[in-house]
Amino acid sequence: MLRWLVLAAAVFAAIWLLRRSLSRHDGGRPRAAREREQAALVSCAHCDVHLPRGEALEHAGNFYCSEEHRRLGPAR
Ligand SMILES: [Zn+2]
Repeated sequence: MLRWLVLAAAVFAAIWLLRRSLSRHDGGRPRAAREREQAALVSCAHCDVHLPRGEALEHAGNFYCSEEHRRLGPAR
């Protein structure tokens, strides 16, 4: 009887560890996707220079290389 309890506890512990490692793996995926997104190049709507999205300023759906170009707005 005690042997079955120990076995059951071991199985539960294994499942718990497996689920914990799986959830940690899932938790890392969105962060990697976000880092990829931040590193993706976007072009300034004013001067068309390319820069990483993480460094670009976003305003009204457009990206800008600097605060000055964000203020000047998209080039026409
Ligand atoms: Zn610019």
